[in-house]
Amino acid sequence: MLTMNELNLNNKRVLIRLDLNVPIHNGKITSNARIKSVLPTIRMASQKNAKVILMSHLGQPKKEQYEKKFSLWPVFQELQNQLSELKLRFTDNFDDVNHLDNGEICLLENVRFNKGETKNSTSLSKLYANLCDIFVMDAFGSAHRIHSSTYGVAMFARIKCAGPLLINEINILEKALTNPKRPMVAIVGGAKISTKFNILHSLKNIADTIIVGGGIANTFIAVNNEVGKSLCEKEYITEAKKILMTNKIIIPIDSRVSTSFNKDSVAILKNIDDINLNEEIMDIGIQSEKNITKIILNAKTILWNGPLGVFEFPNFSHGTKALAKAVSKSAGFSIAGGGDTINAIEKFQVKKNISYISTGGGSFLKFLEKKTLPCIDILK
Ligand code: AMP
Repeated sequence: MLTMNELNLNNKRVLIRLDLNVPIHNGKITSNARIKSVLPTIRMASQKNAKVILMSHLGQPKKEQYEKKFSLWPVFQELQNQLSELKLRFTDNFDDVNHLDNGEICLLENVRFNKGETKNSTSLSKLYANLCDIFVMDAFGSAHRIHSSTYGVAMFARIKCAGPLLINEINILEKALTNPKRPMVAIVGGAKISTKFNILHSLKNIADTIIVGGGIANTFIAVNNEVGKSLCEKEYITEAKKILMTNKIIIPIDSRVSTSFNKDSVAILKNIDDINLNEEIMDIGIQSEKNITKIILNAKTILWNGPLGVFEFPNFSHGTKALAKAVSKSAGFSIAGGGDTINAIEKFQVKKNISYISTGGGSFLKFLEKKTLPCIDILK
């Protein structure tokens, strides 16, 4: 795979696909983390004297047409703030890119306003490819999507390469998945085993230990125990039993349960062989917290996706909090990814002690499963 660093960009039209899908509330950006993360890529392209064209999606506009609330205009303004030393413009007119000076930067309006973007339309992909001499993919968070601005454009661009953010993310994840320092511990939590079943299958060949939590753990617990009203996918119990035979799976030994599912529900501590029919497992228990903390503190590589309980409810947030604290205290190299995992990391204020937080949500999960992504393959 070619990388942007090794190419001569002088006087070239360089189209860069970024992930500028930032949260916006009432027209104001509420977190500019994604914008900050792409600044080195933009500066590098500009310093290499390219005519820099940027594109990204923002949100999920229903129709393929302009909608103010999905416009990248606020993102452009923030880019201007951050890159005040550079010349920037914003346009929804593709012809404008023909008038760029070397070193100048142009942000295109939300790609999802364009007809055929999410259907990977050939004509749109060719149109993007013709805007540039070099296409740079630097949006890991969108690299699992076969869209015109992520995948199709790479099929038709004269030269295609990976940007620095993408390369960094791939290197870190690849190292953890192919040659991790051991012991390697994976934590797979969250709601449904069905959505993470392939990941469990893949991780069981890589990790030394897999800690399961949340609704996913309930399906494992149900192999040998009554789980009452708990979130559990019965059709996966047989498969869960097979994975248990690897002897790598750590399931909770105790839990916090309730008879009702709401934010004020009181938690009752129960061993997992003592759950009543009218009870629901909503978090791991104190003994399980101690067990997993010990395992995590001993780990050299930690891969974390998913909460261990309904961490949005105060009485059922303890397990995920204990996990977050253990990961942050561990001297091992820790990687975390996924929407709810990032929310938990922020909630329990452990961000600065996690070694690497993936920029991807869905793409992070797909990478754990397949060790590659369609938009990475197309660059090769
Ligand atoms: P996921 O998107 O699969 O990572 O799932 C995250 C969601 O799983 C969070 O909103 C949690 O509240 C939920 N969750 C975690 N544990 C449980 C549980 N034991 N029962 C019901 N929902 C849970």
